[in-house]
Amino acid sequence: MPETHRTKLLVIGAGPAGYTAAIYAARGSLEPILVAGLQPGGQLMITTDVENYPGFSSAIQGPWLMEQMAAQAEHVGTRIMNDLVMEVDFSRRPFRCVGDSGDIYIADTVIIATGAQARWLGLPSEKAYQGAGVSACATCDGFFYRGKRVAVIGGGNSAVEEALYLTHHADRVTLIHRRSSLRAEKILQRRLFEHPKVDVIWDHVVEEITGGGTPAVVTGIRLSHRETGIERTLDLDGVFVAIGHTPNTAVFRNHVELDGEGYVRTIAGSTRTNIEGVFAAGDVQDKIFRQAVTAAGTGCMAALEAEKWLTEVAPSPVLEHA
Ligand code: NAP
Repeated sequence: MPETHRTKLLVIGAGPAGYTAAIYAARGSLEPILVAGLQPGGQLMITTDVENYPGFSSAIQGPWLMEQMAAQAEHVGTRIMNDLVMEVDFSRRPFRCVGDSGDIYIADTVIIATGAQARWLGLPSEKAYQGAGVSACATCDGFFYRGKRVAVIGGGNSAVEEALYLTHHADRVTLIHRRSSLRAEKILQRRLFEHPKVDVIWDHVVEEITGGGTPAVVTGIRLSHRETGIERTLDLDGVFVAIGHTPNTAVFRNHVELDGEGYVRTIAGSTRTNIEGVFAAGDVQDKIFRQAVTAAGTGCMAALEAEKWLTEVAPSPVLEHA
């Protein structure tokens, strides 16, 4: 039987941004409800070793970190709902969201923290070696390739930045792009082309990521020329896929302002959106940093801004939804 839940603060999304927002909101006595979505824990659930989240001197596991965040959010008073928001109405207050379960969430403030997903090439071999030489985050995993040979796939800012970052660790970095020019900013391109550790393979698409050993790890890549179809192989220790991210904002389209790439637009230096009382935190509004720690940071900001907004604007309910 569907239920209606009333809250001062609804958090949508269960990654580092959502959990941190919930922890701060619960400690601020806002009795938040967090709707966890399809993949509670977000992108860290498909990561193994995490060595850059502060507070842990040895590597921790991504899924474990997210379990801890969920437990902490619950411990301080968050109600976590295993539901997926399918419909939102931000046109009047209190805001109204409907879950896949049929439950209705009525909220004075909302924090959108639904994250983003790395785009993948869609090859079976890419999936098979994720966490065993295939990654979508150089900042997270570059450290493991000290003295090794890696490739980066893509031609945008992310691919070039990841390639340049990887030069701090790897001996050789090969950028592989499907066209003969990059869409990355010129200044980044110049740095890339001038770097002695980098070479670029143009006009090639990835056919297969190859591997071997026990446990199986990446050992190379098979490419084909976009026009001639002629194949070539490369020996590699790691493959970084950097072909863009997709923010999880389909449900918010036409309800809150998004930028041209579908990210929620927030006011600079803040987590406020164009709708008063609706805030956004984490990767759903950040296409530059995309780190667990920055997502957690903006989650904290969103909770503090929501709390302040509630004290300044309350009593908010001007119209009850039917
Ligand atoms: P992007 O600009 O969309 O570039 C994606 C790249 O991947 C393109 O070169 C594209 O090739 C390639 N690609 C897409 N699908 C592919 C496939 N199936 N196989 C092979 N290659 C594929 O994505 P992004 O680099 O992640 O950047 C996203 C946004 O964030 C951009 O607005 C960017 O400027 C911004 N960003 C900014 C910074 C910064 O300011 N420091 C850093 C990172 C990102 P084609 O070129 O052939 O389409």
